[in-house]
Amino acid sequence: MPLTPTDPGRLEPIETASRDEIAALQLQRLQWSLRHTYEHVAPYRAKCQAQGVHPDDLRQLGDLARFPFMTKLDLRDHYPFGLLAVPREQVVRLHASSGTTGKSIVVGYTRRDIDTWADLMARSLRAAGVRPGQMVHNAYGYGMFTGGLGAHYGIERLGCTVVPMSGGQTEKQVQQILDFRPEAIMVTPSYSLVIAEEFERLGVTPQDISLKVGIFGAEPWGEGMRAEIERKLGLDAIDIYGLTEVMGPGVACECLESKDGPVIWEDHFYPEIIDPDTGEVLPDGAQGELVFTSLSKEAFPVIRYRTRDLTRLLPPTSRAFRRIGKITGRSDDMLIVRGVNLFPTQVEEQILRDPRLSGNYQIHLTRDGHLDNVEIRCELQPSVSGQLGDSEVQQLARELQHHIKTIVGISTQVTVLPANAIPRTLTGKARRVFDERPKAR
Ligand code: ADP
Repeated sequence: MPLTPTDPGRLEPIETASRDEIAALQLQRLQWSLRHTYEHVAPYRAKCQAQGVHPDDLRQLGDLARFPFMTKLDLRDHYPFGLLAVPREQVVRLHASSGTTGKSIVVGYTRRDIDTWADLMARSLRAAGVRPGQMVHNAYGYGMFTGGLGAHYGIERLGCTVVPMSGGQTEKQVQQILDFRPEAIMVTPSYSLVIAEEFERLGVTPQDISLKVGIFGAEPWGEGMRAEIERKLGLDAIDIYGLTEVMGPGVACECLESKDGPVIWEDHFYPEIIDPDTGEVLPDGAQGELVFTSLSKEAFPVIRYRTRDLTRLLPPTSRAFRRIGKITGRSDDMLIVRGVNLFPTQVEEQILRDPRLSGNYQIHLTRDGHLDNVEIRCELQPSVSGQLGDSEVQQLARELQHHIKTIVGISTQVTVLPANAIPRTLTGKARRVFDERPKAR
């Protein structure tokens, strides 16, 4: 299956192709992807057989609606490598993201998948206005997260100088930006404002900051925040979208000239919007859950992957591809804390590991300045409440905080309360999450 190589600095022909040309390419690639998955991913083949569909049934794009969905549960059930469509030996890299429990979900890439990702990330950077020869400060986290390395390869692919800074160490971030004078930065929107504050503290005005463009993603943010970031850092702020299961960042990216929502790289990812309750496909423009089918992935193809992100599909503007509107929420209970995904069940699992704690807990999310704070309130079992001294209770809280940090990857503040201190809900489901952060502006 031929892939279009990226020509840095210029638009690729497919970015300005007609809708008919795009649809023809999508159909050809979709047929390949579906067959590839059916033949090599036994759990998906079983799902198709249970539903009585076969890749031969896909004659036009709309036929995809007859095929089963994939969800995060499939990744959990077949952890770690059960959904790979190539022998593990052909996988050149693994990445991971949060699962609904302490175990993460794992994805893999062949050499060609990494190549395609680098191409699409380079295309995203170019859409954001970055040009070959410029320097890009990469403050996305390196490691198992897709952010750091995903951006890194794309920056190199476009022909830029990458500064592989990763997250954290704000003072050092700022010092390096002052010393190296990069034109672009890639970072989560919330952390960019922490960086902006450090510039302010040093008395550096936005006009004196070398950055011309910032590419921000991994968490929801709105026009209010865009205006604030642009004003405080003196740059153009561009939205980039992606998720580990589908590839990582760079599934969609906004264009500098229009800043009207991330353009989906539809030659590699086929989007659908569905009603999250019925699974029915909705027309473009309608609000629903975003679903993606990969069109070229070899190692970890996804067919109708339910992202759980709620948004809508918008018509093409600056490119021939459709765009996604702002992500307005999720159809599951996943929280995004400082750009990291968090499921309440991940916290619950760590609490239940300690027999001295009851299964009653609350997660309180607040925002302190620009950063999210997480407080976990849990309570002692009646059998030990009153038996433990203050120092033992504090020790217990520290242990839980440590487990959550090492296994879930999020810093929290843990408060251990006496037995029955957390109010019970007498009707319906217990309310676990209290998200008091201001809504994405
Ligand atoms: P990432 O490193 O991009 O956060 P993950 O797989 O950890 O990748 O998380 C993906 C999820 O992050 C998405 O399903 C979505 O909920 C959220 N996300 C990523 N980018 C954006 C964005 N630009 N706007 C809103 N939400 C985003």
